[in-house]
Amino acid sequence: DRQKHIRNFSIVAHIDHGKSTLADRILELTDTIAKRDMQAQVLDDMALERERGITIKLNAVELHYQANDGETYIFHLIDTPGHVDFSYEVSRSLAACEGALLLVDAAQGVEAQTLANVYLALDDDLEIVPIINKVDLPSAQPEVVKEEIEEMIGLDASEAVLTSAKTGLGIPEVLERIVSDIPAPSGDIDAPLEALIFDSVYDSYRGVVLAVRVKQGIVKPGDKIELMSNGKQFEVTEVGVMSPKAVARDFLMVGDVGYITASIKTIQDTRVGDTVTLADNPAEKALDGFRQITPMVYSGVFPVDNAKFVDLREALEKLQLNDASLEFEPETSQALGFGFRVGFLGLLHMDVVQERLEREFNLDLIMTAPSVDYQVDQTDGTQITIDNPSELPDASEIKEIREPYVKASIMVPNDYVGPVMEIAQRKRGEFVTMDYLDKYRVNVIYNLPLSEIIYDFFDDLKSSTKGYASLDYEITGYRASDLVKMDILLNGDPVDALSTIVHKDFAFERGKAIVASLKQTIPRQQFEVPIQAAIGNKIIARSTVKAYRKNVLAKCYGGDITRKRKLLEKQKAGKKRMKSVGSVEVPQAAFMSILNMH
Ligand code: GDP
Ligand code: MG
Repeated sequence: DRQKHIRNFSIVAHIDHGKSTLADRILELTDTIAKRDMQAQVLDDMALERERGITIKLNAVELHYQANDGETYIFHLIDTPGHVDFSYEVSRSLAACEGALLLVDAAQGVEAQTLANVYLALDDDLEIVPIINKVDLPSAQPEVVKEEIEEMIGLDASEAVLTSAKTGLGIPEVLERIVSDIPAPSGDIDAPLEALIFDSVYDSYRGVVLAVRVKQGIVKPGDKIELMSNGKQFEVTEVGVMSPKAVARDFLMVGDVGYITASIKTIQDTRVGDTVTLADNPAEKALDGFRQITPMVYSGVFPVDNAKFVDLREALEKLQLNDASLEFEPETSQALGFGFRVGFLGLLHMDVVQERLEREFNLDLIMTAPSVDYQVDQTDGTQITIDNPSELPDASEIKEIREPYVKASIMVPNDYVGPVMEIAQRKRGEFVTMDYLDKYRVNVIYNLPLSEIIYDFFDDLKSSTKGYASLDYEITGYRASDLVKMDILLNGDPVDALSTIVHKDFAFERGKAIVASLKQTIPRQQFEVPIQAAIGNKIIARSTVKAYRKNVLAKCYGGDITRKRKLLEKQKAGKKRMKSVGSVEVPQAAFMSILNMH
């Protein structure tokens, strides 16, 4: 029967090790791309898409493979996002599979990024098929790489498939191994529907398109579905598979991977990891592992040109259509004017959003240093939550401040436990436990303040473990800490967008560092600019940006006119990402100086 012939898998690989090339070969060998009628359909779909101006990209394709045993198998190849900030999304994509192909470059060997995802796959009890790719290269060392796989991952690599995705060598064997090694999905078609959402995209024509893995039961157009995390109900308008374009089907059943549309208007309703069930015959409980994803860090986002405020709002709204984790609300800063307070999953997510806003929407932005959120008990008995340091009340009005703490799991090969512990201690970490997962890897667990790990913790970890550490963390709650607000004054005036909240024990050291960093980033002006760090009324660090020694244009007078013009143009370009704060011109980099103070 159908279920026995389904194989659901992902490809886990470091960037450039050949994942896309292997996927192309698999598509070719299974005739998913080459078939003439397929081709026509692909073109039709594209024409339609062009008319409607949309593209749907769901990270799963269905393939049909005729195996050596004469039977036809249904493969679902599920792609995983490659970003650290999205490790939760990776884990949900893997939870939609029974197996994973571990692809390692025969010349490069096992690399850090691979490890993090393999560990996730192992945690999910996936069957892993090791593949050593690029064996056609003269520098290939498949035997060495086999040993590495065994030592670094603790996986038997004696049966690894040797391939060249470039020449096609070994690919037929890969397909056979998918059939023989990766188990068929279990589950019961007669049980109430349980479908895992592992991806979702917004389509202006169909509303939200959910990528799901059906774990139990069956779903058809017309069914009334319910999302188990929030109880919202919708009527299914279409189900289907990506092959590789969307192809409608009569139903999706247990073991299937495909899409569901149900006139869902907002992607915020459809969180990755949630379970879809039937409203009239619901599952008893949701599938494991659902996590409400909430922003971890907040930053102020301001247009350099205040007139672009409305454009910025429209751009954020557009991005939000496809990014359920993006949150924002209006914010006003004395220094920077009107903008938005935006919540992000982490610093990489923040970078991605900034880049998209600037590139796709052509906006010039100033972003303030990221901050976590704080709970403040005030002396008048009220409690407030702030995610913007400038909003912290006066010290005399504060009874207690609590900051978010995380439980961090750091997985490393056991040679690197020492350096990892040293970094965690330095970041106010509290050691919890250490587990040996097998002969080679250790899971070190610490309680840490979130504010200490959002900046450079992961970079520090990586550089002191040759890149082999993987980090995962979740918020466990809030704890009272000895925290103070540090203000920065430029030319005697406090700049709200530069305020930070720091631990008392680190205040002096960090005040000095931020002042030094600002001195480097703020360019010389017509006048001297004193920079001060203050806690309350007390100045804890100071420095000065000297005035121009002489008019830089003076030496051009009477001289080379093009040189003068070049100089003026250069100054103008530099101004693009500058903001006048009072009388001082401050570049974007200055608002990130806090990142250099740790
Ligand atoms: P991805 O980043 O993992 O998706 O890697 P790609 O599939 O884009 O491959 C990265 C580069 O390696 C490309 O230039 C490919 O042509 C090349 N490549 C992939 N597989 C092989 C192979 O088996 N042999 C050789 N020599 N090159 C390969
Ligand atoms: Mg690729």
